[in-house]
Amino acid sequence: MFDSIKNIFNNNNEETPLLYGEKPDIIREKSAELYEKAKQYFPGGVNSPVRAFKSVYGTPLFIEKGDGCRLWDADGNEFIDFCCSWGPLILGHNHPKVREKVIEVMQNGMSFGAPTALETELAELIIKNNKFIEKIRFTSSGTEAVMSAIRLARGATKRDKIIKFEGCYHGHSDSLLVKAGSGLVTFGETSSAGIPKAFADETVVVSLNDKEAVKTAFEQFKDQIACVIIEPVPANNGLLLQDAEYLQFLRDICTANGALLIFDEVISGFRVGFEGAAGYYNIQPDIITYGKIIGGGLPVGAYGASATLMSNISPDGAVYQAGTLSGNPVAMAAGIAQLSELAKSNFYKELNSKTEEFTNAIQRYASSKSYQFKVFRIGSIFWFAFTDAEKVQTSEAIDPASMEKFKMMHRELLNRGMYFGPSGYEVGFVSAAHNKIDLEKAKRAIFECLDIVFKNK
Ligand SMILES: *Cc1c(COP(=O)(O)O)cnc(C)c1O
Repeated sequence: MFDSIKNIFNNNNEETPLLYGEKPDIIREKSAELYEKAKQYFPGGVNSPVRAFKSVYGTPLFIEKGDGCRLWDADGNEFIDFCCSWGPLILGHNHPKVREKVIEVMQNGMSFGAPTALETELAELIIKNNKFIEKIRFTSSGTEAVMSAIRLARGATKRDKIIKFEGCYHGHSDSLLVKAGSGLVTFGETSSAGIPKAFADETVVVSLNDKEAVKTAFEQFKDQIACVIIEPVPANNGLLLQDAEYLQFLRDICTANGALLIFDEVISGFRVGFEGAAGYYNIQPDIITYGKIIGGGLPVGAYGASATLMSNISPDGAVYQAGTLSGNPVAMAAGIAQLSELAKSNFYKELNSKTEEFTNAIQRYASSKSYQFKVFRIGSIFWFAFTDAEKVQTSEAIDPASMEKFKMMHRELLNRGMYFGPSGYEVGFVSAAHNKIDLEKAKRAIFECLDIVFKNK
């Protein structure tokens, strides 16, 4: 029955009568105008593809302002935001401490291409509160951090091949835009045009939660595997929570084979705890990558490891890696201000229990109505899955057809002032700025939307 849905920004409700419980579409006239203009200048009108709203109804919303847990778009619509810039904003939008620190540092200029004390201050704050790394290098994005971590692993082991998992995202560098072919252990197939096949041949792709595949890969490519890279909390293709025991298995098999284990913690770092997933599961990876939260909303990435391993990085060692704006003072300032808040005692306890209460209430509601719906959660990350399964641990376990339900839900949520990432494969985040009243409002909206989705199934 949703086949007849009109183009959402026409907002013409006369032609299609509203179905049970539906709200009229929000006005998107200004956003639609801005989108038309943006399309003249950017491919698809955007600077990062998911922003184009291709998997949900309507045109992307152009955001004018964010404050606390709220967002306002160009048409003046107000939303409670559960996307939080895809993760970085764990304190919410425009946090006064972050804003003030950034403004203070900016008074002295914005970039020098020379060392500043701010870099050391952020590094010290991180390393003094994180037993899993001894040295760190700042980059300007998560992609760069991961790309550099892979180069470090290859340089240190003098091996070329890497193992990655289907359903984990590690940014858009050539070696990592590779997906599984068919079979247990496969050379990857490129998942983007423009990547030489020779690159994909160095990337072995296996399923998550599959020990045999990893064992087979190590046997098949004996002494050739430089590293295994995983999102220890896979959160870019649903939330595919792995068993702690599986992550420990990866640790052990890497050690046994002289390969390095990389935890890509660009999402989970400073999110599931100050020490990220390494701390959460208490597993020591060889290299950890960070991004998102680490920059307080400004572009920062980082990779860290033991002092010995990091001595391979130039200028100490032979693995080259650099950046004109790496360690940028303004970005460092935002990171320092944000991480200082996170390092305070009880920060994560409060945020995580608030999120747990929120997702438990949603799950209770859905279960009481026997809806085919699960909320998966770790820390303050959650994912709405339209499934009956108790666990979803591999990308193959996600039914693409269930995304139609998410699409319907997303539209109803937007119309009730709730902003979620525009794809059912994306997770949501609760920030410290979401208070009890905000979450109560969101819960009620979510209950209504679930009723609509399952009434219209
Ligand atoms: C977001 C993300 C990246 C890429 O970071 P960018 O800053 O977008 O380049 C890499 N790995 C993981 C796990 C991510 O979530």
